[in-house]
Amino acid sequence: MIIQLEKNIRTDHYQALIQQLEKIGYQYTAVQTQVQNYLVAIGNASFDIRSIGSLQGVKDLHRVSDDYKLVSSKWKVQASQIDLGEGIKIGRGQFQIMAGPCSIEGEKQIFETVQHLVKNNVKVMRGGVYKPRSSPYSFRGLGIDGLKSFYKACKSEGIKIITEVMQMDQIEPMYEYVDIFQVGARNAQNFNLLDALGAVDKPVMLKRGISGTINELLQAAEYVFSSGNEKILLCERGIRSFEGSYRNTLDLNAVPILKDKSHLPVIVDPSHGIGIRKHVERMALAAVLAGADGLIVEVHQEPEKAFSDGQQTLSFQEANELYSHINQTVAFRDKLYS
Ligand code: PEP
Ligand code: MN
Repeated sequence: MIIQLEKNIRTDHYQALIQQLEKIGYQYTAVQTQVQNYLVAIGNASFDIRSIGSLQGVKDLHRVSDDYKLVSSKWKVQASQIDLGEGIKIGRGQFQIMAGPCSIEGEKQIFETVQHLVKNNVKVMRGGVYKPRSSPYSFRGLGIDGLKSFYKACKSEGIKIITEVMQMDQIEPMYEYVDIFQVGARNAQNFNLLDALGAVDKPVMLKRGISGTINELLQAAEYVFSSGNEKILLCERGIRSFEGSYRNTLDLNAVPILKDKSHLPVIVDPSHGIGIRKHVERMALAAVLAGADGLIVEVHQEPEKAFSDGQQTLSFQEANELYSHINQTVAFRDKLYS
């Protein structure tokens, strides 16, 4: 059960509410987000909902039977929207493309990518400065200095930045330079990191774990929300399966299911999802039709020379076509399902 509290609930009203919850045998957790205050109450006993709903200081009350509560669409029927500022929004009818290299490699690369994005009216640039790599001998990112160059180039063009944070102590130094914190598939259940991102007032994009279920992804989002941050994007990026013909199995089923189960916007990453450059576009367009609120795509001025993930990275020329096809597909989809 989710109990939305009045903003300045009186202490005696709060005490009365808690007493009532205890009386019906419910356990509760107080959640204070940047938007409002809630009590998330868990229990099995059946009771007259009015015994809580009629109490003073209670704004609204919803029964939510899912394991995850605050990210569930059962209480928040209207889809959430992430506002990145300067008119750039994601969700509730606003579609965004995020594009850029797997790894930030240097100033020239950043500059060329920014120019490419500006030319194509793409508003969010991706690029990792902390890279989770399977081998410790692979390129592991330029770190905070790379992020500063990234920020400098994007800021002047009004491009927003999404980049991966791998551990808690990176959050603070990164904060100023980041518009969306990305949590990678390998950190999908790093609950301490998720809690810490709950204390941040910037959007967080959660990638689905490598073998993560939809429920686990939503529970990860519940960590961030219940720690205070309601600005969350969910990202389907493919899961590990028995199939070896491609890097991951992009689970497009997850898109309508997530959008049904949760009010949070859903992003799809077709680059990691299939891992093969020549098939990225079709999977991107399929993701749009499946209902995605945005796409995150790897592009590079010379994919063959990319420091990481070149095999799934589009050239600028390929990406030009992709953006145009995405925009046409979004328009087609919105008309079809309007
Ligand atoms: C990435 O976006 O480059 C990345 C490492 O993604 P994932 O965490 O989905 O593997
Ligand atoms: Mn990558």
